[in-house]
Amino acid sequence: MNPFDLTGRVAVVTGGNRGIGLGIAEGLAQAGAKVMIAARDAALSETAVEHIRQRGSEAAFFLTDIEDQGSCMALAENTLGRFGRLDILFNNAGIMIGGQPESTSLVDWERVMSTNLTGAFLCAQAVFPAMQRQGGGKIINLGSLASIFGTARGAAYAASKGGIVQLTRSLAVSWGGDNIQVNAILPGYIESELTRRAENERPGSFAAKLARTPAGRIGTPQDIAGAAVFLASAASDYVTGISIPVDGGYGVQI
Ligand code: NDP
Repeated sequence: MNPFDLTGRVAVVTGGNRGIGLGIAEGLAQAGAKVMIAARDAALSETAVEHIRQRGSEAAFFLTDIEDQGSCMALAENTLGRFGRLDILFNNAGIMIGGQPESTSLVDWERVMSTNLTGAFLCAQAVFPAMQRQGGGKIINLGSLASIFGTARGAAYAASKGGIVQLTRSLAVSWGGDNIQVNAILPGYIESELTRRAENERPGSFAAKLARTPAGRIGTPQDIAGAAVFLASAASDYVTGISIPVDGGYGVQI
């Protein structure tokens, strides 16, 4: 038996219509999972689903706003209705609003916290009953290197991503007895719309990150897929509450 095989498993990926989420969705589909993409942009979600189907896997999307509790509940219900089960949740959707802390508005602070941290909590809460009923499940949260390092122009982002690590540990402890493993992935600098926007706002950020990445390159969404499949599969059944950096070595050099 291949411990990484996801055949017959159903995975929800929030923010799976582009960037890292799409890389994860493709990786899970390739490992055999059926994938439900949860995001707000219908056209992008449709394209992502088509892309996965063309490679011979089953996929669907459900328009979801993870800031809204009802929407997260509807996502879980719709996934069960569409695929009959729900085994894996990737809390990947996230936003970054940069700026000095002294000039960050309350509105921006709350938007970042509500998407990155509360949204992950609401989705985990929404899928829990199905996973408990089924006798187990996998929840994987996307943190960041900002989960462990401070960042001058992203206090809200770093606080939300630091919170993801503690949310991960706490859910792992609460739900370990239900055979639900909860872990996190902390990506390094990955090329996506999020980082391209940051580069446009402050040119030079790609070059600065590249200069201190031992792997000698910026990451791609596909670089996250290996850790994603591991944490979604039986290969990680005795692994829970941890956060794995996938960063080309960025976090280990002085
Ligand atoms: P992108 O900006 O490319 O994608 C973000 C995704 O989140 C989109 O699919 C978007 O879809 C979705 N999303 C945003 N808000 C909501 C919402 N309220 N409800 C549902 N979906 C939402 O980002 P990345 O792919 O770069 O990042 C993915 C995750 O990885 C984030 O959590 C990010 O913080 C984290 N990360 C990224 C790093 C990087 O270098 N790129 C580094 C470390 C962490 P839509 O707009 O259609 O809703």
